[in-house]
Amino acid sequence: MKTETTIQGLSASLSKARSSRKTIGFVPTMGNLHEGHLNLVREARNLCDVVVVSIFVNPIQFGPNEDFDSYPRTLDQDSQLLAEVGCDIVFAPSVEQMYGGQSRLTNISVSDITNDLCGAQRPGHFDGVAVIVTKLFNIVQPNFAFFGQKDYQQLAVIKQMVADLNMPIEVIGVPITRAEDGLALSSRNGYLSDEQRQTAPAIYKALKNAEAELKAGQALADVIANIKADLVANGFEIDYVEARTPMLQTIDQFDQDVVIFVAAKLGKTRLIDNIQVAFVV
Ligand code: AMP
Repeated sequence: MKTETTIQGLSASLSKARSSRKTIGFVPTMGNLHEGHLNLVREARNLCDVVVVSIFVNPIQFGPNEDFDSYPRTLDQDSQLLAEVGCDIVFAPSVEQMYGGQSRLTNISVSDITNDLCGAQRPGHFDGVAVIVTKLFNIVQPNFAFFGQKDYQQLAVIKQMVADLNMPIEVIGVPITRAEDGLALSSRNGYLSDEQRQTAPAIYKALKNAEAELKAGQALADVIANIKADLVANGFEIDYVEARTPMLQTIDQFDQDVVIFVAAKLGKTRLIDNIQVAFVV
């Protein structure tokens, strides 16, 4: 496995793959890798000839009061894990490498679906994501790019951007990887105290409960209210609990497939999760 820290170095490493028409699979990450990330890499390994994983904590997708400075940076450990799952190239550029040089005047803004859910809570976040993902797509020029359904809205935004701008890349969504107790794996889980870590699986329990209630015929609004009550009773501070269609349109009755989204804080740590419930006639 090679590690590249410059755009030039990465391009040189990939030039042979490109000229021999090998398929390139790309997994963008912010590092501090866990099984959720590694499952994206495994999926890329299965589908593609060459697997590139980027590790870059992207400053422009963090708000002023968010955790950019404290975000865990564990490159050595990450590299070891990536070598074990068959990654070919790690791209770990500096902020200077990605944003140095002339000042950036171009923004990429996907409208509508970014004003909702996490976008409403984190202004500018998805613009920052769209810019870095586009830059990385242009640098890596992958055939396939892999994103987790854990960040469902991010996946939807990337799919929309790729389609709108005719980017020649197939975006593949990978299901959420969970701990045994149901908690969706996340680099931010490391911020939780032991006690908070014990409480955190209540989010997934509430979502599974909601799935059962929907299937049993309970009204969507009641199901959402139950999740909120459940989370508050467990000591969460709720950012949002919302139902949307898989394309992120609003929905008030369970008369088609629905995705239920939760963002909630335990102490200072913000956790997100979602569950898709299929509508069966
Ligand atoms: P991050 O490093 O948090 O930016 O995540 C990099 C990629 O890994 C994104 O596409 C995430 O959606 C994905 N990811 C993170 N955690 C999980 C998880 N538990 N299950 C599936 N994908 C995940």
